[in-house]
Amino acid sequence: MDSGRGIQIPSRLPLLLTHEGVLLPGSTVRFSVDSPRNMHLVSQRLLKGTSLKSTIIGVIPNTRDPEHDTDDLPTLHKIGTAGIAVQVVGSNWPKPHYTLLITGLCRFSVSGLLKERPFVLAEVQQLDKLEQYTTPATEGVPAEEGELGELSHQFYQAAVQLLGMLDMSVPVVAKFRRLLDSLPREALPDVLASMIRTSNKEKLQVLDAVTLEERFKKALPMLTRQIEGLKLIKKSRKIGPDNEKRVLSVRKGGVFPGRQFNLDEEDEDEDGDDTAALEKKIHGAKMSEAALRVCLKELKRLKKMPQSMPEYALTRNYLDLMVELPWSKSTKDCLDIRAARTLLDNDHYAMDKLKRRVLEYLAVRQLKTSLKGPILCFVGPPGVGKTSVGRSIARTLGREFHRIALGGVCDQSDIRGHRRTYVGSMPGRIINGLKTVAVNNPVFLLDEVDKLGKSLQGDPAAALLEVLDPEQNHSFTDHYLNVAFDLSQVLFIATANTTATIPPALLDRMEVLQVPGYTQEEKVEIAHRHLIPNQLEQHGLTPQQLHIPQDTTQHIISSYTREAGVRSLERKFGAICRAVAVKVAEGHRVTKTEASTPEDPTQQEVYINSTPYSLLTVQGMSVNSISLYKIPIFGTRCTNTDITSSMCYPDKAVPPELPIVIDHVALKDILGPPLFEMEVSERLTLPGVAVGLAWTPLGGEILFVEASRMEGEGQLTLTGQLGDVMKESAHLAISWLRANAKTYQLTNMVGGPDPLEATDIHLHFPAGAVTKDGPSAGVTIVTCLASLFSGRLVRSDVAMTGEITLRGLVLPVGGIKDKVLAAHRAGVKRVILPKRNEKDLEELPANVRANLDFVTAANLDQVLNAAFDGGFPGTASTHTHPQLSSKL
Ligand code: ADP
Repeated sequence: MDSGRGIQIPSRLPLLLTHEGVLLPGSTVRFSVDSPRNMHLVSQRLLKGTSLKSTIIGVIPNTRDPEHDTDDLPTLHKIGTAGIAVQVVGSNWPKPHYTLLITGLCRFSVSGLLKERPFVLAEVQQLDKLEQYTTPATEGVPAEEGELGELSHQFYQAAVQLLGMLDMSVPVVAKFRRLLDSLPREALPDVLASMIRTSNKEKLQVLDAVTLEERFKKALPMLTRQIEGLKLIKKSRKIGPDNEKRVLSVRKGGVFPGRQFNLDEEDEDEDGDDTAALEKKIHGAKMSEAALRVCLKELKRLKKMPQSMPEYALTRNYLDLMVELPWSKSTKDCLDIRAARTLLDNDHYAMDKLKRRVLEYLAVRQLKTSLKGPILCFVGPPGVGKTSVGRSIARTLGREFHRIALGGVCDQSDIRGHRRTYVGSMPGRIINGLKTVAVNNPVFLLDEVDKLGKSLQGDPAAALLEVLDPEQNHSFTDHYLNVAFDLSQVLFIATANTTATIPPALLDRMEVLQVPGYTQEEKVEIAHRHLIPNQLEQHGLTPQQLHIPQDTTQHIISSYTREAGVRSLERKFGAICRAVAVKVAEGHRVTKTEASTPEDPTQQEVYINSTPYSLLTVQGMSVNSISLYKIPIFGTRCTNTDITSSMCYPDKAVPPELPIVIDHVALKDILGPPLFEMEVSERLTLPGVAVGLAWTPLGGEILFVEASRMEGEGQLTLTGQLGDVMKESAHLAISWLRANAKTYQLTNMVGGPDPLEATDIHLHFPAGAVTKDGPSAGVTIVTCLASLFSGRLVRSDVAMTGEITLRGLVLPVGGIKDKVLAAHRAGVKRVILPKRNEKDLEELPANVRANLDFVTAANLDQVLNAAFDGGFPGTASTHTHPQLSSKL
């Protein structure tokens, strides 16, 4: 053997800092790492490297890696072991960590640190020779003479003696024997010190023993102690082979690969009980035959696996999920159409069309038990009750309800799960949902299908196709389960704000039911029938304590909310309830403590902080610290002769008179000044402003178009984040107006016949921060510019929508219902629409139709005529809509 020609480890090694377990050359140890530097080492070096060299790392014992990678490094133990990472397993449970299996090669000392972040990289010096061992310990005389030879001989003899006392049938012992026969003697101290029962401290001593002599000297007493211990046991009780097994203790952190078994009998029993229970559960889960087969196979593997193996937990989790899934557990449908109708009516006001369709759907289900049918998709602005109708459907059917939020989901594994080979794999949302509801026929609400994303991880919409297709979903295969699960009993309902962004293939599988926004009157009804009672209940109040009159509700709707649905309205009621709850709770306290009420109730108004919230928080504080305004709160005048006593001693607060009535003043106290004004009429005080109607996924909106002109060269400036289509509409409008300037008597700034001559035009669409596009602003732009060029005001109560052509025709547009509702909300009186949209008006609620004056226009002439008071010069003098009024 040529000792000078050894194998060299790299001179620069990444260092793994460990504080549990000591890796000795020749042994294999499992390390669990979760600290930042060690994690970086694994992810950036071990998982990325492709060469054998990249799997060699230095393991520094007795050194804890700091918790944060910004923390300074502790002093490193001076000697470490270079090792090969033979296995890397990652897991996310209970927190992200890796388990590394590392086989030690040789000692090294750290000569200098090269970098500390993201992981420690050091210049190292190899201390042991690393050779292909050719001289087995049994062969011939030891190479070394003198003391070393003597020591190594003694050590070898002791090892042979230990071996003689052990039971050969135990695999570890057999391996021990093989190693003893095949390893050179200088490798024995390291290998045996890691096999016999030694503490980490002792192992560290062996590691630190750089010279062979010292190493033998350190390890020999450990070996002898082991032999003595065994002798003692043999003497004290007749030991059977079972007890002997324990001698070579196989402990966490000090094992050879393939030999990790738990020798603790109690644990084994417990483990046995556990798997037996699991087996019973598997048989009791009534799963499909294929699933049963897979489960039993996995169970068999599980039984053979040591618990410490990371795969054990994975398999166990898988089996636990399999037995928990509702393979054949379902609730019984209790469908009674009459009861369903009552329930839907009780839960929701208005929404007649939707409720009718839902009832039809349910009726068909009742008559025909087959579940193959369209998937209903409710499309409408937020807060119009889509989710809550879904919940009601589940209630009418007596089924479990589960909502799956799909907004922002951009990974198909979210729907279909991850394969089990993948680190941190888990089932998709459908299977998870089934596990949660624990029955196989729930109502699943797929919320926000229009907001599904797409990414490199696949298209979740494509994965949903299989879920929603009645022809395929009886054998839906989640990647994690890897066996088919029958989804045909699940009732899927989808919701979306717009159909525009739903992938066409998905849309094709669904029946779209439009849920439009509500009118002011409907909102008032919904508020008083549902929202207010709900909020009162949620805040522990009763109608005897809080009363919100109808006109207050109307005021909230018009001045504090501007939405198609009722969600923000509900929040406002929540705010009122919270404020009133404070008052009522205070009143309670007074009655309890029987504090005296003010004797003279005529007296001064109480000076209180302007909002009840601050009143709440300032009570008990020094009065000086708050600013005071003279505002009576909650409409009912609070009285007290001594402000400081009421402020500083809450127990003496005056009990409010019940019920507390919320009037406009109280409303301002609680919700602050009105957020929205009826601004339409105010803004139309100058020529060059017109009101358009726009559609957004959140409902309809009114849109002001403003134009101004100045001296220039005939340029058009457009602002307000407009899309291409909208810009084109503006050019169309200008061209049409220029072409017809004479007919309509339009002039430029100095009265010339071409409106653009020596004039620049600026068109602006507030709100400037919101991107706008679409052709429907065409008529509004024309009206706005016509007003600018003629110097006449557009009627302040008119709003319009419609696409224009170069020849002055008005083409139909979409979203009429939402747009008209928005106009109605904003207090508009007359709405100008394209003639071909007349049919859409039939869907509007009767009171909206009655309150608004609709003008349908086939060309721009009619639009201008209707938009200006007394018509527009040059247009046909009358505009009528007889057919409309008769139709409506
Ligand atoms: P969406 O799913 O359309 O965004 P939600 O179903 O979450 O809206 O509804 C928001 C709130 O408004 C819920 O508390 C719901 O009960 C209430 N709501 C909406 N529409 C109605 C209605 N027609 N009748 C009664 N409550 C309603």
